[in-house]
Amino acid sequence: QVVTRFAPSPTGFLHIGGARTALFNWLYARGRGGKFLLRIEDTDRERSTPEATAAILAGMDWLGLDYDGEAVSQFDGADRHREVALQLLEAGKAYKCFATQDEIQEFRDAARAEGRSTLYQSPWRDADPATHPDAPYVVRLKAPRDGETVIRDEVQGDVRIRNDQLDDLVLLRSDGTPVYMLAVVVDDHDMGVTHVIRGDDHLNNAARQMAIIEAMGWPVPTYAHIPLIHGPDGKKLSKRHGALGVEEYRDMGYIAAGMRNYLTRLGWSHGDDEFFTDAQAKEWFDLKGIGKSPARLDFKKLENICGQHMAAAEDAALLNELKDFMAATGQTPLLHTTEYKISQALPFLKTSAKTLPQLLEKAHFCLVERPIEVEEKAAKNLGEDARAMLSDLTPHLQNATWTRQDLEALLNSFAEDRGVKFGQLAGPLRAALAGRAATPSVFDMMTVLGQEESCARIGDAAG
Ligand code: GLU
Repeated sequence: QVVTRFAPSPTGFLHIGGARTALFNWLYARGRGGKFLLRIEDTDRERSTPEATAAILAGMDWLGLDYDGEAVSQFDGADRHREVALQLLEAGKAYKCFATQDEIQEFRDAARAEGRSTLYQSPWRDADPATHPDAPYVVRLKAPRDGETVIRDEVQGDVRIRNDQLDDLVLLRSDGTPVYMLAVVVDDHDMGVTHVIRGDDHLNNAARQMAIIEAMGWPVPTYAHIPLIHGPDGKKLSKRHGALGVEEYRDMGYIAAGMRNYLTRLGWSHGDDEFFTDAQAKEWFDLKGIGKSPARLDFKKLENICGQHMAAAEDAALLNELKDFMAATGQTPLLHTTEYKISQALPFLKTSAKTLPQLLEKAHFCLVERPIEVEEKAAKNLGEDARAMLSDLTPHLQNATWTRQDLEALLNSFAEDRGVKFGQLAGPLRAALAGRAATPSVFDMMTVLGQEESCARIGDAAG
C-alpha cells in the first residue's frame, strides 16, 4: 500500500509551495487507494508555534486535502528517536564522540590550511570504549566513507554523492536530544511511508537520511524531489512577489477546486490537459509527469482555470464556498432573502465570473434593497424619457406571466412598439433593478427578483 506524507515545519503560514507538495502527496495516495499522512515537524522549539500549525491545518482544510488519522507531532516522538540512536550505538553503527567545539574548530582550521576537506573526522569513531572519558558527548553515525550514495529519485534521476563528502552525522546532541535528520527517518519508517515527495531543497538531506536508513537496515522509500515554484518573473519565489500563503489565494476568491487544478498543473503535466476534475487528477497523477525545471506562477492561467471550475461547480457547494469566503474576508453575512436570490441566480452568475469577488460583483442586484442606490453612470439612463418609458412598461409587467421566456418576448415587443432599440430599454431597466450600468441580463435579474420586487424597483425608478 502506498503511504505518503506531508511534513511541514510550523514556522509560518502554509506556503504556496508547501501546499503544492501536500497536494502532490495527497493526489498520489488518493489515486492509489493509499494513505496520506500529516506530520508536524515541530522539533525546532524556538521557531515552531501553535498558530503556524493552525494556519497550516486551515490551509489544507480550505484546499480540501484531507489526511488519514491524526496529525503527528514530531517533537512528541523524541523518546522513540533517541531509542533508535541508542540502538545504533549498541550495534556499533554509531559512536560516542567526546570532541569539544574547540577541537572540532581546530581540526577544520588545520584542514583548511592544508587544503584538505574540512568535513570533521572524529578520532572517537574507532576508539576503544575503555578509553572513553567521563565527559559530555554527542552520538554520531558511523557513515560509510568509501563508495557513493545513489539517490534513485523519480524526478531528478539517479543522484550520486561521494560518501567521502558526507560526515559522521550527529544523531543525539550532548543534552541527549535527537536531531531533526534522525527524527525524519524514524518517523517516516514508523509511519510506514513508502513515497517521500518533497521540495528539492531536501535533496541533499536525502543522502544523509539514507545513511541512517541503511544503518538501521530499513527499506529506502521512493524519493521524488520536486523543483520549487518560481514567481511570474522566473525568479525564486520571495516576499517581493507577494501572495506567498494559500490563505491569500483564498482571500482573493479563487475557489478551492480551481486552485487544486492549477497547483496540480504547476510542475506536473498530463499531455495537453489544463482543466480537469479531482477524479481525473487522482487517476492521472504520477511521478513521471513531474517536470525537472521550476514552474512559474501565472495568475492569468490560475484565474481562467478557476473560472472554468466555478462554471462547473454545483450550485449548493458554490454557495457554501461563497459564504466561507465572505466570512474569511470579514464581509457581512448574507441575509436569508439575499442568499435565496443568489442561489437562484447562481446558474448564470457562475458562468460569467472567474473568482468569488467577481461573482459577488455580478450578484450586486441581489444584495441591494429598495430604495436602490443608483450609481452616477447608471443615473444617466434614467432621464425623463426613460422614466416615462418605465412608467408605461409597468402595467404590462404587472399583467405578465413571470417566466424568462415571456419576459423576453414582452420586453422585445414593448421596445419595438415604442420604436426604440432594446438597449435603450435595457439601460434604464438595469439602473432601476440594480442601480448600475453593467449588470447581468435584465431577463435573468427579473426572473430572480420575481414580479413584485421587479415591478417595485421599476416603479421606484419611474418616480
Ligand atoms: N519539514 C520540512 C519542511 O518543511 C520537510 C521535510 C521532509 O519533507 O522531509 O521543509
